[in-house]
Amino acid sequence: MEQRGFEMTIERVGVIGAGLMGNGIAHACLLAGFDVVLIDAFEAALPKAVATMGKNMERQVAKGSITEAARIAALGRLATGTDYAALAACDIVIEAAPEREALKFELYKALLPHLKADCILASNTSSISITKLAAATDRPGQFIGMHFFNPVPMMKLVEIIRGIATDDATYEAVGALAGKLNKIVASAEDSPGFIVNRILVPMMNEAVYALYEGVGTVESIDAGMKLGANHPMGPFELADFVGLDTFLSVMRVLQAGLGDDKYRPCPLLVKYVDAGWLGRKTGKGFYDYSTTPPVPSR
Ligand code: NAD
Repeated sequence: MEQRGFEMTIERVGVIGAGLMGNGIAHACLLAGFDVVLIDAFEAALPKAVATMGKNMERQVAKGSITEAARIAALGRLATGTDYAALAACDIVIEAAPEREALKFELYKALLPHLKADCILASNTSSISITKLAAATDRPGQFIGMHFFNPVPMMKLVEIIRGIATDDATYEAVGALAGKLNKIVASAEDSPGFIVNRILVPMMNEAVYALYEGVGTVESIDAGMKLGANHPMGPFELADFVGLDTFLSVMRVLQAGLGDDKYRPCPLLVKYVDAGWLGRKTGKGFYDYSTTPPVPSR
């Protein structure tokens, strides 16, 4: 592979996966002036993603944060498809496919023959080792973690995670890209949960233990953390927003990856997930959303 200069600039961005995160990443890149190619394995996901993006941008126009002309121009820079061949001219491809290691490995195998030699490959994975993903590609030096937060157009942070082999040019190019997206970078080492999930998710788990042990109720614990620690959402509101299945799987990644008992998921959390009480997406989690305002489920 040819040696790249340190001034590597990114003009054309590919995004793989038109779900929740891919949609938001494409949205942010379009508004920053990049040409974006959005790819999904399922054709039907694409018009849905474009409609969501259009609607979210309309909301930004209504709030006055972008102009109508900027919205139209942004959507005009978007191309969509199901064929990885459309990514041939991209300077970076950001992968936001489902969080399954085997699926990502398969995806890279099919994708890599279509990318130009100096294309950077970034993954938005929340919990899989960047070093391990990079090792499954033909370009570990040009592989990096770019961990965005939901909803991407609103959340200011992006964690940038170097794998053991990631080169400086890739790290710098991705940092510059994050700046153009108007994001603040937190550089994290390739370790389970990176920075934010390593700290935030055990905090939510501790809240579930406090509930389990009867230290407080759902309402008193949420009020305590909102008013006593100035958190914008209480840990149970946040857990329901994230999804209790996702919350549990991050705890399991921390427990397995760090091997410390302090990351043991609370048995009460496991019970909620077993019950199918997964949070807002199922209408019930720590709160029951069938009433307004929601009330604790038990
Ligand atoms: P999602 O399920 O909403 O979207 C995934 C999309 O990928 C779907 O549209 C699906 O059709 C598509 N897809 C599946 N297989 C594919 C393939 N082989 N090629 C191309 N597209 C394929 O998932 P999401 O919540 O957007 O998560 C995506 C990634 O982002 C995961 O790695 C996740 O860990 C990470 N992440 C999620 C969040 C979050 O809050 N949801 C936050 C940060 C990072």
